Amino acid sequence: MLISSQFDSGNIEVVKAIEASDIRLKIRKDNQSDFYQWFHFRVSGVEDTPCKLTIENAGGAAYTDGWKDYKVCASYDRESWFRVDTAFDGETLSWECTPDQDFIYFSYFAPYSQERHADLVADAAQSPLVRTSVLGHTLDGQDMDLIELGYGPEGRKKIWLQARQHPGETMAEWWMEGALDYLLDLDNPVARKLLEKAHFYIVPNMNPDGSARGHLRTNAAGANLNREWNIATMDRSPEVYLVREKMAETGCDFHMDVHGDEGLPYNFIAGFEGIPSLKDRQMELIEMFQNILEKLSPDFQQEHGYDEDKPGEADLSMCTNYVAEAHGCLAMTLEMPFKDNADLPDPDYGWSPERCRHLARACMDTLHRMIDEL
Ligand SMILES: [Zn+2]
Repeated sequence: MLISSQFDSGNIEVVKAIEASDIRLKIRKDNQSDFYQWFHFRVSGVEDTPCKLTIENAGGAAYTDGWKDYKVCASYDRESWFRVDTAFDGETLSWECTPDQDFIYFSYFAPYSQERHADLVADAAQSPLVRTSVLGHTLDGQDMDLIELGYGPEGRKKIWLQARQHPGETMAEWWMEGALDYLLDLDNPVARKLLEKAHFYIVPNMNPDGSARGHLRTNAAGANLNREWNIATMDRSPEVYLVREKMAETGCDFHMDVHGDEGLPYNFIAGFEGIPSLKDRQMELIEMFQNILEKLSPDFQQEHGYDEDKPGEADLSMCTNYVAEAHGCLAMTLEMPFKDNADLPDPDYGWSPERCRHLARACMDTLHRMIDEL
């Protein structure tokens, strides 16, 4: 039996792996940070062998609420990620399985590799509607890819979509895949109308270094990018700096920052209620967006979510607050679950890449219904 994580977004340390019935593991911390929760590894040599795997340091992870009612993701073919019953006792996370095949992958959520990211950008670039560009480099020397969609007359709305500031929140890039497929379908009347009225700026992965390194939450230098928006520098958080400066140049009428939440088993939106320059119109727009999305997708709800900031108490280092304040526009953070949508559960797959794609389509339909209001 062998355990390996020396691949894109791999993360695990082996404490003990002598007997399959007692595999002891630890999750590695994000570089120069105390955050950890993302894991992704392969176990080989275990066909028809009863295995028990235990992550010994789960109790010290960033969001221990995330382990309650959580089921680990597993895959043989790296395409289909099914769920395995998992137990958390306050300190350790453990699960048992008897694999049908010689090797099996386990991951916190269905991974989204940098190779797949490169394919996503290259596929999009084949469309006559698309221009791709590189905003600059990350600290590890990776490209910050920007996809622009929709060219035409002046005066169209500037729509910004971005995902994976927190690299372990891979559901955010699965969402991007759904949004791009939907918008680039030349037979889709909603996409055609949207692209007539809007110019899209899409950053499908805000944190390539953290993604490749198998981080939960930070970039190569240990920066939590969603706490950098008003202080970003090229030395510490070039990812935010480059996007923020580009946005300052283009303007922004709508911004959606796509995330995953470890604890809450729901899809929800967080806004910008505490920004100093809050306008009634901004609040009307975010309510409108949520009301329409709730009608269009049974996977979206407004009952469960984060507490709103008190007036004037917004943290402007966070993207949604920063953008709503700097651009006076509608901005939002979309959160999807690592676990499942408790209102519409799927015991076999939980919240999954396909469901992320569906939610993205519903978000684009919502945007279409609101585009003239922005
Ligand atoms: Zn996040």
